Amino acid sequence: MADVLFTNVRILDGTLAHPYAGSVLVQGNRIRAVGRSTAPISSAGATVIDGAGATLMPGMCEAHTHFSWNDAATLAQIQTMPLEEHVLWCAKVARRYLEAGFTSCVGAACAKPRLDVVIRNAINAGQIPGPRYLAASQEITVFGALGDETLPHLPFPEFSFGVNVTGAQEMRKAVRMFLKYGVDSIKLNLSGDNFTPQSPADTSWMTDEEVAAAMQEVRMRGKRAAAHARSAESVKQALRHGIEIIYHASFTDEETLDLLEEQKERIFVAPGIAILYAMLNEAEPWGITRAMATDMGYQVEWDAALESLRAMHRRGIRILPGGDYGFAFTPHCQNARDLEFFVKYLGFTPAEAIRCATQYGGQIMMRPHELGQVKEGYLADLLLVDGDPLANLSILRDPKRLLAVMKDGQWAKAPEIAAERFWGRAA
Ligand SMILES: [Zn+2]
Repeated sequence: MADVLFTNVRILDGTLAHPYAGSVLVQGNRIRAVGRSTAPISSAGATVIDGAGATLMPGMCEAHTHFSWNDAATLAQIQTMPLEEHVLWCAKVARRYLEAGFTSCVGAACAKPRLDVVIRNAINAGQIPGPRYLAASQEITVFGALGDETLPHLPFPEFSFGVNVTGAQEMRKAVRMFLKYGVDSIKLNLSGDNFTPQSPADTSWMTDEEVAAAMQEVRMRGKRAAAHARSAESVKQALRHGIEIIYHASFTDEETLDLLEEQKERIFVAPGIAILYAMLNEAEPWGITRAMATDMGYQVEWDAALESLRAMHRRGIRILPGGDYGFAFTPHCQNARDLEFFVKYLGFTPAEAIRCATQYGGQIMMRPHELGQVKEGYLADLLLVDGDPLANLSILRDPKRLLAVMKDGQWAKAPEIAAERFWGRAA
C-alpha cells in the first residue's frame, strides 16, 4: 500500500494531551511523522486523505474479548454451537471488531479449546481480517462454579462451558494442554457470577493450591493469566498469585483496594460493566425482568462495582473498557459503550476514558512503546472519526461516524472520499 498522509485532522493522541490540529504521515506500517500545525509535511508519493477537521485517534483496544460468544442468552447455547459453525462465527466477529475500530483485542476465554488460537493464527497469517489478538484458553473452573455446565446425567466435558479441574494435578494438566495449543493467556474462574445462581458473584471457588499450580505452569512458559474475579476474596487471591489481568473486581474492601493500588504498575482491571447494566435494564426481551435481575443479585453487584471502580479510578489503577459483549443482551460491537459508562458512572473524564482504550490498550497488549498512541514511530493503528469523541463518546460506536480504520498501515475500512463534505460536522 502507498504511504498515506492524513491532512487537516484534529489529533487525539491517546494520552491526556489536548487535541491539536495537524497532519500524520504513515509509511509502511508505522507513523513516520506527526505535524503539529497546519503546515504540510513532506510526503512525496503518499495518498493524501484530507480529513476536513475529522478526528484522528489511535485504534481502540478491547481488554476482555470473547469472539466465540455467539450473541446467545445462555452459556449452553454458546457451548453447543457445532465446531465448524463456531470457527466461522469467530472469523466473522473478528472482522466486525476491526471494522468497529477495535484494532487490538485481548482474548478473555473462548468456548472450545482452540477457537481463540486458530483465529489469532489466521489473523496473523493474513488469512482473515481481524484485530491484533491475544488468544485465551477456555475458562478453567471447578465443579459447581461458573462455567461448569455439565449435567448429572450428561457429565461429559463437551457439554461444559469451561474445563472442570479438581486439585493441583488436574489444574496443571489443563493449563499445560492450553499452553501446548499456543494460548497467550490462561483464564481462571476464581469467583462465581450472578449469571449462574448456584455460584453467585460474591463467592470464591478455587483453592490456593490450584491457583498456584496454574501460575507455576504459566510462568514456566512465560505466559500470562487472567482471572474472573468478582468477589473481594477472589481479587485478593488473584493478586496473591501474581495474576496480571483481573476481570470484574466488583466487590472490594479497603484491604483489596490497598493491594490493587500496591500492584497498580503491574495489573490491569477490565470490569465489563456493560453486562451488569444490561442485565438490570435491557434483558427483559430474553425473559429477565428487572425484578428477576435484582433477585439474582445484579442490583447489589452494580452498586458495589460502581463504588469499587470509582475508588480504583481515584487510586490510579488502570481500568480498561470491554468485556462480556457477545451475549444477547450485550451484542458484539457495541463495546465502545463502556467508555460512556466510565464517564457516566465511574467519574472519568472523556479524555481519560479514551486513554483507557488507547494508551492503556498498548500496555495490556504488551507493546506500550509502539502501540496505542498517535506518535512518531508507533504502529499505524488509526481511526478517522467524524466529529469529536471528547464531546460525544457515542460516535465511537456508530459505524457511520467511523470514516476509516487502519491497522498496521493497511485499511481495514477505507475512507470514502465522497463522504468528505460531511466530515467536520459538530459531534
Ligand atoms: Zn468474560
